[in-house]
Amino acid sequence: MRLSRYFLPVLKETPSEAQIVSHRLMLRAGMIRQQSAGIYSWLPLGLKVLKRVEQIVNEEQQRAGHIPLLMPTLQSADLWRESGRFDAYGEELLRMKDRHDRDMLYSPTAEELFTDVFRSYVKSYKDLPLTLYQIQWKFRDEIRPRFGVMRGREFLMKDGYNFDLTKQDALHAYNRHLVSYLRTYERMGLQAIPMRADSGPIGGDNTHEFLVLAETGESEVFYDSEITDLTFGDRQIDYDSVEQCQAVLEEFTSRYARTDETHDEAEFAKVPEERRRTARGIEVGQIFYFGTKYSDAMGATVQDREGNQVAVHMGSHGIGVSRLLGALIEANHDDNGIIWPEGVTPFHVGIVNLKQGDVQADAACQSLYDSFTALGLEPLYDDRKERAGGKFATMDLIGLPWRITVGPRGLKNGVVELTSRRTGASEELPPEQAVEKVAKIYAGL
Ligand code: ATP
Ligand code: MG
Repeated sequence: MRLSRYFLPVLKETPSEAQIVSHRLMLRAGMIRQQSAGIYSWLPLGLKVLKRVEQIVNEEQQRAGHIPLLMPTLQSADLWRESGRFDAYGEELLRMKDRHDRDMLYSPTAEELFTDVFRSYVKSYKDLPLTLYQIQWKFRDEIRPRFGVMRGREFLMKDGYNFDLTKQDALHAYNRHLVSYLRTYERMGLQAIPMRADSGPIGGDNTHEFLVLAETGESEVFYDSEITDLTFGDRQIDYDSVEQCQAVLEEFTSRYARTDETHDEAEFAKVPEERRRTARGIEVGQIFYFGTKYSDAMGATVQDREGNQVAVHMGSHGIGVSRLLGALIEANHDDNGIIWPEGVTPFHVGIVNLKQGDVQADAACQSLYDSFTALGLEPLYDDRKERAGGKFATMDLIGLPWRITVGPRGLKNGVVELTSRRTGASEELPPEQAVEKVAKIYAGL
């Protein structure tokens, strides 16, 4: 993309309404625009990152064997009356009437619809296990929407639902989700710690939340510092293997790590004092096993091996896709702006032309641009007739991990400058080598 032809409405001023850094930077970098409380337009740069996050979530869900589909956001109240949640959900559920005076709602989560689709088609244990998921907009009429996309009213969520014959199978689905979530967040360059949590209105007693540690997090968390040394890395897990998934779950959940809802001082005191940590965290996902709560209420049964009709065991699993952008920025920024991890960056590399209009500089930039494009990478080329300082400030603000600076002086010596956004370190090297180096970094992801 050429910046002169792009739509990147960056703000010079720091918006006063934004209280936390990720919200400020998303507004300043022209990623989002607030349309009303907790409701945002996604501008091109914001949409690009949202799509990258979404893609990682999709890939990891499908790697774990989960199947995507799409449910409507506006739903009839009927199914929600069957589960009892139309009345039980409270003020966060946006209820409305259509022209025929029928009760409708904007889905805050979708246990009912998935259970309904399941019961309509699946009749036999032979079709289990089954995990369906979607990445779809949700609406919750939060009393205090704030912090930008972190606590919106409309937000994008991956929500998945597993259907299993037995409790044991459903617990395997639970473990499998925990493993796939660890891998998902790590691919984005985020450490999200599974912590024992409270199930809230979804119900059930097995649940973990995934938290990204950040001062601006809304949850208070308590954990054993050893947990932050754990990484999932590039281990190959067979998601069908009960033992392998169980082993990962045990490794990542055996140390003390809880949110304030489940925190237990006496238990915490057993952690050696020098390893006890109290901090704040951003909840970026949650997994639940809730047994037959919805299948009982809604008659989601299958025939088992003996020919009996049995209610299926279920769980649900959510990732806050749009909230993740806020969490990513909270964890990756400096005074000059965002620092995107390579896994989610909106453009792979920025090209800054120090002397737009100079025949050689223009040609060198164009050649870099073509080389990256041919390699399947997306460069953002700042081809505007602007001063270098302004171009650097824009690149720093929007946070591309790599920048190549091209100017007549370097070109005389056959070199361009490659700069890391994260470390600030620069090196001069011939253009082909700069391309090779950047390409290698992305190939390793
Ligand atoms: P919270 O405790 O933050 O209100 P929740 O526990 O009610 O969230 P879940 O039902 O577990 O949320 O939804 C799954 C994920 O969706 C959460 O882990 C979170 O990342 C995201 N999410 C929930 N509410 C919002 C919101 N208002 N804005 C943005 N993301 C949200
Ligand atoms: Mg939650």
